[in-house]
Amino acid sequence: MAEDNKEPKKPYPVVDDKKCTGCNTCIEICPMEVFVLEGTKAVVKRPDQCIGCRACESQCPENAIRIIDE
Ligand code: SF4
Ligand code: SF4
Repeated sequence: MAEDNKEPKKPYPVVDDKKCTGCNTCIEICPMEVFVLEGTKAVVKRPDQCIGCRACESQCPENAIRIIDE
């Protein structure tokens, strides 16, 4: 099993892909390039780079992002 199920270092974002519309806002707004767009969904590609600024969480129009920090 090559699957990496180790929890990332906090803080890190999670995207609810049922809510995400792929609007690209979080990809553009994140200063640390944590997200990438894959198809029509934002994917948390580099969770360890997150600095917990919460810009993505506050700007996502679908309220699809949550920051895990505790
Ligand atoms: S801002 Fe929200 S809806 Fe837009 S791509 Fe990111 S997670 Fe998806
Ligand atoms: S909290 Fe800030 S650094 Fe972390 S993913 Fe969101 S925008 Fe990027």
